[in-house]
Amino acid sequence: MKKLLPTSTVGSLPKPAWLAPPEKLWSPWKLEDNQLREGKQDALRVSLQEQQLAGIDIISDGEQTRQHFVTTFIEHLSGVDFENRKTVKIRDRYDASVPVVVDAVSRQKAVFVDDAKFLRKQTNKPIKWALPGPMTMVDTLYDDHYKSREKLAWEFAKVLNQEARELQDAGVDIIQFDEPAFNVFFEEVNDWGMAVLERAIEGLHCETAIHICYGYGIKANNDWKKTLGSEWRQYEEIFPKIQNSNIDVVSLECHNSHVPFDLMELVRGKKIMVGAIDVATNKIETPEEVANTIRKALEFVAVENLYPSTNCGMAPLSRNVARRKLDSLSAGAEIIRNELGV
Ligand SMILES: [Zn+2]
Repeated sequence: MKKLLPTSTVGSLPKPAWLAPPEKLWSPWKLEDNQLREGKQDALRVSLQEQQLAGIDIISDGEQTRQHFVTTFIEHLSGVDFENRKTVKIRDRYDASVPVVVDAVSRQKAVFVDDAKFLRKQTNKPIKWALPGPMTMVDTLYDDHYKSREKLAWEFAKVLNQEARELQDAGVDIIQFDEPAFNVFFEEVNDWGMAVLERAIEGLHCETAIHICYGYGIKANNDWKKTLGSEWRQYEEIFPKIQNSNIDVVSLECHNSHVPFDLMELVRGKKIMVGAIDVATNKIETPEEVANTIRKALEFVAVENLYPSTNCGMAPLSRNVARRKLDSLSAGAEIIRNELGV
């Protein structure tokens, strides 16, 4: 990135109420067929405009064309039964009714590539596209075929790599893999999770990112956070492995969390997308609060490697709250750019 402290969102933004009922996850579409296709594109345009008006530097699609960051990708794969669902505990935290892997998984055609091409045409700014990470995908399914989390993750890594290569060819500048599961299953991350993610980014020359957070601001996650104590050191378990990987950018939750900033030392040299906006509250951060988070991160990260961002996706928030949070993110980064004279 040429601009210092380029701002971005982690990925999702609220959808317009005419497309899907707001402020909930897995919100069902209100339109069908051609109208739905057009509606998604219109929502993409709106999301782009809102990010641009807020002065966001790295544009995302706001996940306007997907119902959910994991399941929408999986819906496009063969080998998965969405009719006969089973209930599993996601990230050892909350029950969800999920699809079942019944056969070998494969990707018959591109999932998001047309959407990415559409977004690419609308802006000259760098664009970032989020995909679910293989381990998080495994954790959002019931596997009745491979009967091995690791084997299924390897198969997902192969299809993610196919998709990522096409997104790169469509002009995506940063491909981000969302791996909240990395914050829970440390042993698996160190045993095979990181190796599998490396398979997913194989051969890519665009920037690659991994987003690891403490989840959307929903009750199950907020309750879990209360059990984590006064210092959240989960990142410590997995950062050494990430440090030795080919991933370029690490996206972290910071503002209002109890993550000690010095853990960023463990991934020195990587770019850090620092979460300076809390997505679990409607309270709008002041620009000065955002600036404070950036300042603290700068003690451990070189300025050219720091990307101010949100803690996680903003899909469950109201549009008004999300918009104002984006404004503060931009304004906070600008305070620091002015301080540094850049
Ligand atoms: Zn997240």
